Amino acid sequence: MGHLISMVELGKLITKHHPSYSIIVLTLIPSFNTGTIAAYVRHVSATSPTITFHHLPDIPLDPLSFPTIEAIVFELIRCSNPNVDRALQTISSSSNITAFVIDMFCTSAISVADNLNLPVYYFFTSGACFLAQLLYMPTLDKTTTKSLKDMNTLIHSPGLPLIPSSDIVVPLLDRTSTDYSDFLEICKQLPKSIGIIINTFDSLEPKAIKAINDGVCVPDRPTPPIYCVGPLVASGGDGSHECLSWLDLQPSGSVVYLCFGSGGAFSSEQLKEIAKGLEMSGFRFLWVVRSPPSTKKEDRFLPPPEPDLDVLLPEGFLERTKDRGFVVKKWAPQVDVLRHKSVGGFVTHCGWNSILEAVCAGVPMVAWPLYAEQKFNKVVLRDDMKLALAMDESEGGMVTAIEVEKRVRQLMEGDEGKVVREVVTTRKKEAEMALSDGGSSRAALSKLLGKFIIKHHPSYSITVL
Ligand code: UDP
Repeated sequence: MGHLISMVELGKLITKHHPSYSIIVLTLIPSFNTGTIAAYVRHVSATSPTITFHHLPDIPLDPLSFPTIEAIVFELIRCSNPNVDRALQTISSSSNITAFVIDMFCTSAISVADNLNLPVYYFFTSGACFLAQLLYMPTLDKTTTKSLKDMNTLIHSPGLPLIPSSDIVVPLLDRTSTDYSDFLEICKQLPKSIGIIINTFDSLEPKAIKAINDGVCVPDRPTPPIYCVGPLVASGGDGSHECLSWLDLQPSGSVVYLCFGSGGAFSSEQLKEIAKGLEMSGFRFLWVVRSPPSTKKEDRFLPPPEPDLDVLLPEGFLERTKDRGFVVKKWAPQVDVLRHKSVGGFVTHCGWNSILEAVCAGVPMVAWPLYAEQKFNKVVLRDDMKLALAMDESEGGMVTAIEVEKRVRQLMEGDEGKVVREVVTTRKKEAEMALSDGGSSRAALSKLLGKFIIKHHPSYSITVL
């Protein structure tokens, strides 16, 4: 969802500034996906007339025969090449495709675009720091025969703070896995594109952006131009969710919001520790709770069941905290929540969209990473961007109630929280400036669209995969 939402926001940004363009998004929604993607696509189709979706045929595969979600994604995309080819030919028959913009996972579609002589741009839906890390990965790969998970060292890459080797990104940790070779291939292909569009802005990640622009992340070939056009953040909802009415009644900046992305879920033991920590802290909270992940592989693609709060949370917790806490089951309107004046802190799983949404709302964070590149994001948020405190896990990966209490307290009233709050307030203003007339992101967008126009087509359309 995070990838699709920001891709659609990129499309909206382009058509807002250049209404003569139209955007076609190629999507593949596999039959086993029971999530919210189809509903989101229907919503965008109904509300954004300049964006249309071209659905690729489903690929028949058994998701349970793959070891990881990444392996399924790579296989689906690889097998879709003939369908992508057909889609692009169909679109070309009625309009000129000015640019073919691909998500980083869609690297295998580059060969299709090459055959059709289409210029390929990546849209990178995480930050410039993570892009710098990926661009440097092939160099890192050559310096060692060990897997990152076994290195137990700090990795020094251009433009980045020191990153613990086991925090880089899950598919790159074990070099004997097929996910590793698939992901390394992405790293090798990124610099071969015509340009990389990034959902970030110059003053959020200046060192990483400079390292990429200076070409030091890819020592053995030229790095394509990057276009930092962000922050692209989805607009809020209709404001009708009951948690927003509850927030209306709370004092300004008093509520800590806890939410762990579209996929974050904890064991019932961990949920109880969070509840205890919140209760001990005494702070007001808004907490999105999901059912614990199922231990059965076949449940992986089913929507999580409605959480039974009476079973999952400590006995009497809801009653004892009813005057200062609000628990939302499964999903909160996050953009609206973060922008609400009552919210003063955010405990986040460090998904890139969540980070940008917090920056745009000027809300400081506590980083509690769970999957994908979130551990990497935690390190850069804390050590480079100075926008977050970090939650420490104890042995076995649990975060204790005492740790939850300590970090919430530091964030909401401690000197540590004050420092990150000041930085995020500055970044918020800079984000607004970057997107306004004469701002760095607006300039990057103009430069990008200038590149599109160079093709001198009589009519333009932009295809996004
Ligand atoms: N989100 C939301 N409500 C929730 C959980 C998530 O609106 O209860 C949205 C959030 O605002 C963000 C996206 O889902 O736009 C999650 O993207 P992110 O990159 O942060 O994490 P991912 O889900 O991809 O791990």
